Amino acid sequence: MEIGIVTIFPEIFGAVSGFGMTRRALESGNLAFSVFDVRDYASDRRRTVDDRPYGGGPGMVLTPGPLAECIDAARQKVSGPVVYLTPQGEQFDQGTARELAGLSGLILLCGRYEGVDERIVETRVDREISIGDYVLSGGEFPAMVIVDAVARLLPGVVGNEKSVLEDSFNEGMLDCPHYTRPENFEGLDVPKVLLSGNHEEIRQWRMEQALERTRVRRPDLVRSAGRSETEN
Ligand code: SAM
Repeated sequence: MEIGIVTIFPEIFGAVSGFGMTRRALESGNLAFSVFDVRDYASDRRRTVDDRPYGGGPGMVLTPGPLAECIDAARQKVSGPVVYLTPQGEQFDQGTARELAGLSGLILLCGRYEGVDERIVETRVDREISIGDYVLSGGEFPAMVIVDAVARLLPGVVGNEKSVLEDSFNEGMLDCPHYTRPENFEGLDVPKVLLSGNHEEIRQWRMEQALERTRVRRPDLVRSAGRSETEN
């Protein structure tokens, strides 16, 4: 899969290419990643990409000219929908991550200031996605959230693919609790069943824990699982 990023802060994405699972995805060739700097398409020497809003008011707006050229350059290289990260978009979740991971390409457009000129949304954007009901100062961190969530779903990226399948939200449930050495930590023991070596009992215990956690912490997930079962 190839992901293109359109941003005025390309350096931020060093965090994606330099660390962890996303770095592994890039190194293994399962993910290709191109960052397009909007300032490269500015027409003045100061590489200006923003201006005051028509109608007045606080803040600046990303101007359409450099953005349009930058997105068009990204489209020449990367196929797939252009997604604008915005708090006004549909909410990102594991289902959306799975859907995006099925694409061969994707372009993520990062806003800044008050956002992008609306005509960019009208002429260049296929889909608008939010990572939650709060406002960040730019679309770069939301884009990184999406890249990470998508990259770990690509085949061959996470060493043990079973671990991805057992993560929260994949079966409509939260994950079970996990323990590692030592057996006793500050007076707290690892649950005995995990030391038993009985794989069936361990599987059963993990399932019960996951169900109970989901029931207590996210009853909405249990309700929607129930609904889809009745629908089937
Ligand atoms: N004036 C905009 C509004 O109220 O809808 C917010 C602009 S915000 C300060 C600047 C940029 O950050 C946005 O254009 C968007 O790209 C990004 N952004 C902020 N919060 C976000 C969120 N929850 N999800 C996705 N992108 C977000």
